[in-house]
Amino acid sequence: MDARLQELRRKLDSLMQANKEEGEAIVSAARVTALREELASLQAKRATLAATLGRITQVLKTANEVVEEVEILAEEEDTTKPHKCPKCGKGFTMKASVVRHLRTVHARK
Ligand SMILES: [Zn+2]
Repeated sequence: MDARLQELRRKLDSLMQANKEEGEAIVSAARVTALREELASLQAKRATLAATLGRITQVLKTANEVVEEVEILAEEEDTTKPHKCPKCGKGFTMKASVVRHLRTVHARK
């Protein structure tokens, strides 16, 4: 009787041990799956951020080009129209044009 009881106890222990190992394997497999999903999600986010960065870079490049164009135009304006209206800053090629502009545009009504 004692021997059978010990045998049953031994079987029960080995069964519990086997289940424990299986349970741990399932848990660790689930962790690996979760980590893989997290990694995939992070990679997707990185791709989105890279795309956004690309668009921002393009916008900045375009903005820089516009600024350069405006600066070139401003320089041209400066050299071709050196006479400025003291009231609004508009440039003219001849001083007489500024005088006429002041009379016609800024004259008191
Ligand atoms: Zn003016």
